[in-house]
Amino acid sequence: MKMRKNIVAGNWKMNLTPAEGVALINEIATFNPAISGNNQVVFCAPFTHLSEVNKAVASWGNAKVLVGAQNCYYQPSGAYTGEISLDMLMACGVSAVIIGHSERRLYFAESNELLRLKVDAILAKQLMPIFCCGEPLEIRNANTQNEYVAAQLQESIFHLNAAEIIKVVIAYEPIWAIGTGVTASTQQAQDMHAFIRSLLADKYGADVANEITILYGGSCNAANAKELFSQADVDGGLIGGAALKAESFVAIINAMNG
Ligand code: PEP
Repeated sequence: MKMRKNIVAGNWKMNLTPAEGVALINEIATFNPAISGNNQVVFCAPFTHLSEVNKAVASWGNAKVLVGAQNCYYQPSGAYTGEISLDMLMACGVSAVIIGHSERRLYFAESNELLRLKVDAILAKQLMPIFCCGEPLEIRNANTQNEYVAAQLQESIFHLNAAEIIKVVIAYEPIWAIGTGVTASTQQAQDMHAFIRSLLADKYGADVANEITILYGGSCNAANAKELFSQADVDGGLIGGAALKAESFVAIINAMNG
């Protein structure tokens, strides 16, 4: 039986005002989606929304619904204008942090090396890193996606020991599928997830690999979530556009196995 967590995480990106975000969570709660057992839901909101989002999540009253951030800085404090520390995030009720989203790699030049520092800092605070990886279209077209994703993992998270890596959630997001309406086929998603799990098994052993949650991201929506999540190595999703509407996000939550 599968013991690892299933997670549906909504990545709001730079969308919604704080009031709109709170209204969205309240609306989602009225649908009363089943979130129990091994299933969790995470709302990854902009920094400015986190305190209000945390209150809305608290009033929902389901311990399996969490607040997440979309980024962090790894230093604890200091002269880093515009950056946000993990203590600041924790003070707003954050328990998960997305790192290495392809938009941050592309527009803000985040490197595998920087992400390695971020993952260490997040784990040191006992928070859940949601580590994003995934290849651009030209790499997929050249059929070198496995090597590309393997290097991302090796350079950013494979320095961790087994007790640490088991706490990392990996989100595989093929860049050509993010926000494009083009979803990876269930077979493409499963193949990459199985490959990632095989890399984890080679390094940490099968028991550790089987504990690690691997999410799919890239135009996952209400219509395709069930089929994607039914794949053996797909443990939920990191959801962009479809996380901004209650009906679609609830349908995706309800598509989680568990
Ligand atoms: C994302 O940004 O992580 C994402 C998967 O976006 P979308 O669902 O809109 O493709």
